[in-house]
Amino acid sequence: MDDHTKATFNARTLVAQALGVHDPVTKAIVPPIHMAATYLRDPDNGYSSGYIYGRSDNVSVQQTENLIAALEGAEEAMLFGSGMAAATSVLLALEKPTHIIASKVMYWGFRSWLRDIGRYGHTVSFVETSDLDAVSAAVRPGETGLFWIETPSNPLWTVTDIAAVSEIAHACDAMLCVDSTVATPIFTKPLSLGADIVMHSATKYLNGHSDVIAGALATSSDGPLWSLIRKMRGQHGTNLGPFEAWLLMRGMRTLDVRVRAQSKTAARLAAQLVGHPAVSAVLYPGLENHPGHSVALRQMSGGFGGMFSVRIKKGEKAAIAVAAYVELWRRATSLGGVESLIEHRASIEGEGSPCPGDLLRFSVGLEDPDELYFDLTRALAVAI
Ligand code: PLP
Repeated sequence: MDDHTKATFNARTLVAQALGVHDPVTKAIVPPIHMAATYLRDPDNGYSSGYIYGRSDNVSVQQTENLIAALEGAEEAMLFGSGMAAATSVLLALEKPTHIIASKVMYWGFRSWLRDIGRYGHTVSFVETSDLDAVSAAVRPGETGLFWIETPSNPLWTVTDIAAVSEIAHACDAMLCVDSTVATPIFTKPLSLGADIVMHSATKYLNGHSDVIAGALATSSDGPLWSLIRKMRGQHGTNLGPFEAWLLMRGMRTLDVRVRAQSKTAARLAAQLVGHPAVSAVLYPGLENHPGHSVALRQMSGGFGGMFSVRIKKGEKAAIAVAAYVELWRRATSLGGVESLIEHRASIEGEGSPCPGDLLRFSVGLEDPDELYFDLTRALAVAI
């Protein structure tokens, strides 16, 4: 597909055909995996193919990057060996000591890495980014250079207004990066709302089958920070491997239908659990009483995602007991796969976590919604 065609098709069509990529030699409808570590040099010593060495040059990786860029409406995308490698590469490319404003509620692994950012000369303020007054108050003129938000954010599903934070960031000449892993490019397009970089743990919904660890960044403008991130990815060797990139593309072909079905089931389960005698609160941005619902309605289109959490009235022990009692839901960390997962989050979150001990997190897969509900309510009975 050329650029014009890409712009006219919707996401479901783009992913189903992976932009129409195929093997030019055999005309195979599925592209081969390019595993080569090195490429032939021309007799005149040049590299007319444009490919030199596998650490930074690989067609299978580029094909998947092109698909992610098309979905995000980005100029370019870059893949990494994990979501953490993608996220940290942005901060490692900052050229001068920078003050960073970051969401207080976010994926615990990145929050814990950010807590130690002082070792690179930067400072960080963790702010409730759903509160725009708090975001503005945290700005240090001349020092704040980067805003990092996650929305909806793990595991409370707090919603941050991307367009409003982008205005605050740009007014102080800072960049805005958005971890959009949970929203997916199907429900939210952060670049169109003013973000400079969007990040995904591609391990989750993009791949969708719990069999690849990968991360992605995409940008609307290829500025100096982006060029440095690319250069450092080549130097540090944090690029995704070709086999994983190929698997990721295969998983992405069903992204649109998967996440719409997951979101529909999550919305239904969340609504069904409101008022359950074992549950004190259901956290899901699609529920009208969720504090971020009105912003979510504005910036998410087509669904509110496949993640929700519940708080168990009887506390932490009872929550752990519920997780022990389920049979269909799988007790495991991670999210975004076709199989539904349940997790007692406080057991895994590190220091400084805003996650309450009575919280159970659910990643909704593609199973029958009635069977998921039955299994969960059977387990919840132990907490009444
Ligand atoms: N961002 C979010 C929202 C996540 O949930 C995760 C992982 O759970 C990450 C980033 C890190 O991604 P990875 O595990 O691919 O390094």
